[in-house]
Amino acid sequence: MSNGKCRSCGKPVLWVEMLGSGKKNPLDPEPTDKGNVVLVGEGKAEMVRGTDKSPGELLYLSHFATCTQAAKHRKK
Ligand SMILES: [Zn+2]
Repeated sequence: MSNGKCRSCGKPVLWVEMLGSGKKNPLDPEPTDKGNVVLVGEGKAEMVRGTDKSPGELLYLSHFATCTQAAKHRKK
């Protein structure tokens, strides 16, 4: 698990590797009910659909969804 900062807004993010795609993705470090990503191991995470969510499971949200500078991500 590596911690870092968003290059756009400077907020702390949690870098994880997505299972399946293998892509690196920054997550907001605080779990949220609105999240759709679960941590599945050291530095790895997986997307979940609403129906797959388990009670008590910590859900995280991609930082791209909450970044105040998200427009910069998209334009690039
Ligand atoms: Zn950001």
